[in-house]
Amino acid sequence: MSNILPWHEPLWQQTLSRHLPHALLLYGVKGMGKSLFAQYLTKTLLCEKKQACGNCKPCKLLKANTHPDLLTIQPADIGKQISVDQIRNTIQFCSLTTKYAHYKIVIINLAEAMNRNASNSLLKLLEEPPSNTLIMLISHNPMVLSATIRSRCQKLDFNRPDKKLTYNWLYERLDNQKHTSLLLNLSAQAPLAALELANSMDKRQELFNSLMTLSANDPVKIATSWAKMEITLVLKWLLSWTADVIRYSITGQTQYLINQDQIESLQSFSNNLNLQHLFKLLDLQQEAYQLINTNIKPQGLLESIAIAWVELKRRV
Ligand SMILES: [Zn+2]
Repeated sequence: MSNILPWHEPLWQQTLSRHLPHALLLYGVKGMGKSLFAQYLTKTLLCEKKQACGNCKPCKLLKANTHPDLLTIQPADIGKQISVDQIRNTIQFCSLTTKYAHYKIVIINLAEAMNRNASNSLLKLLEEPPSNTLIMLISHNPMVLSATIRSRCQKLDFNRPDKKLTYNWLYERLDNQKHTSLLLNLSAQAPLAALELANSMDKRQELFNSLMTLSANDPVKIATSWAKMEITLVLKWLLSWTADVIRYSITGQTQYLINQDQIESLQSFSNNLNLQHLFKLLDLQQEAYQLINTNIKPQGLLESIAIAWVELKRRV
C-alpha cells in the first residue's frame, strides 16, 4: 500500500493539520484499514523527506521491518492477551534515544487485548509521555479499554467512511460487481473486510443452503460440515440470518434485511416462527461467538446451534 486509502483522506488531513499528540487511538470495526493508516503515518513521520518516499534509509529500514525507532506490539497469538512484559518492553523502548529520525513510534495492535496489568502499566507511560514519541493504539473495540487510557489519547474514528468512496473502491476490485453493496452491508461497511468476504461468498451460500434444509437432516452431521469452515465466519453469518429473520418477523418488510440476495428464502423461512425462540437462538449464537478463541471446541457449539435451528421449526 503505497498511499492512503481514499476514505482515510479526511482523517489524514485532520491528523496532519493538528499538532501531533503523544498518543493516538485509532478505532473502528475490523476491515476499515486502521493498521494501514498507522503504517502510512509511521512511514511519513520517519522518512527523511517526511513523505514516505520509499528510497531514503529510514524508508528502506521500515520496508525491511528493521527500523530501530519503531516498535509494534500485539497479542503473541490469536485469543491471547497483551502482557505486562510487552508493555514494559515498550516503556524501555521509549526511554532510548532515537537512532535516525527525530521521532520514535509505538504501534499497539488490538489494544483491547491488554490485560489489566498491561493496561495500568501503559497508563503510567501515557501520563508521563516521553518526548518525541508517538504511541498509536489500534482497536476494533475501544470501549473495552479503560476510560482513563481513552482520555489520554487523541481519537481517530474510522467508523464513518464516505460511502461513495468505499463503494467505488470495492467495485473496482470485485469480479462479481453486483455484490458490492451486499458485501459492504455484510461487513459493517468496512471495505477491506468486504473484499475479503468476496472470496467466501460460495461458502456462505453453501452454509445458507444447509441451514434452509436443516430440518430434514441430522444436526450433528450438519455441525460437522460447518465445523470444517472458518468458525468466525460461520457464526457471523448465522447471526446475520437470525437477525434478518427477526427483523422480518417483526416488521413484515424486506427493505431492512441485510442479506438482500436471500430475501425470498428468508421470508418463507420466517413464516410462523416464535419470536421468543428466535431471540433465544440469537443469544445462543452470540454466546458461542464470545467463546470462539477459548478452549471450547467449535463442534460442540455448532451442534447445539444446529439443534436450536431444528427446534425452531419443530416448535412452531
Ligand atoms: Zn523516505
